[in-house]
Amino acid sequence: MGIATLTRLSVYAFSLVPAVAQKPQDAAHKRKAQPPAALEDAALDKKLDAFREEIAKKMVPARVAAKGERRVQAWLKSFQVVQGKHYHVFTNGPKTTVKRFAQSLEQLYDFTKKLWPFEELSHHHRAYVFASAEEYYDFCTQVVGWSRVQAERSAGHATGAYYAAYYQSPKSETVMHEATHQIVHANLGISGVGSWFQEGMAEYAANTILGSKVSGGMRSDLRNGSYYPFAEFIAIPSLIADKHSSRNYTHAGCIIEFMMKTGEPRMAGKFHKLLAEAAQRRYAWSRGTEASRDLLKKVYGMTFEELEAAFLRFHRVKPKKRRPRPTPVR
Ligand SMILES: [Zn+2]
Repeated sequence: MGIATLTRLSVYAFSLVPAVAQKPQDAAHKRKAQPPAALEDAALDKKLDAFREEIAKKMVPARVAAKGERRVQAWLKSFQVVQGKHYHVFTNGPKTTVKRFAQSLEQLYDFTKKLWPFEELSHHHRAYVFASAEEYYDFCTQVVGWSRVQAERSAGHATGAYYAAYYQSPKSETVMHEATHQIVHANLGISGVGSWFQEGMAEYAANTILGSKVSGGMRSDLRNGSYYPFAEFIAIPSLIADKHSSRNYTHAGCIIEFMMKTGEPRMAGKFHKLLAEAAQRRYAWSRGTEASRDLLKKVYGMTFEELEAAFLRFHRVKPKKRRPRPTPVR
């Protein structure tokens, strides 16, 4: 979990993605009941050409460029597009294994749609799966505009507009986590609220689809009093940048699980309302605590303190006097 956690980056740490990478998102707000129509070969080829022109050409590896134009053309030609029901996977990875990657994304899509019913988009989600880590880092630096250090800290990342990664096990937690960010942003239409909310949604879906426990070691942390109180937790601008990043991710996932499953009378069965409200209000990321307080008050009529008490009851932990006890970063 430690390494996987370090490889995650909050989707909102890089909201300043250049226009070229953001482009598909412009059409993201048209929602409908049917999945997008499958594209014919000619239309798919056009998309692939545009990908080569607008993205791949900007990230030709130096080792390829050094060998001359013919090698550059061959490298560009090595990209293909795999069409699934909801995804177009642009890739220079081996076709059969990338097909499994595309299937895995489709499974996550169906899974999250059952969890948090949403309408279809009028376009396919875009995924960029690069054959090597080096090419993925080049994409991050040349196309997205990250620093090399920032790029190397991640194994994949997503915005509402795209999912990008180097080829890795399609069932890895990172793949599921990042792809959930894309779905929350594009399908649910929620791009803000706070780091706790975005990471919580991604953690919840990734753990549940993979059959692992969302709560991890959280219950013992709760019993020991080693966790941030709700009001403090919600104000953290980026859970990964905080010193307790791994614990924070688990904590965030637990909060979403609690909101979805609690029998607390003021909350039970209202998670879909919370999602609808968050989408409708288009909370800006920067509003932080204020947006969360507003949302929770509006949907549940509860304060942070009341929510925390219900959260502890859900985990069958008796609230006790907090002992300040530092937890080592996992
Ligand atoms: Zn994340």
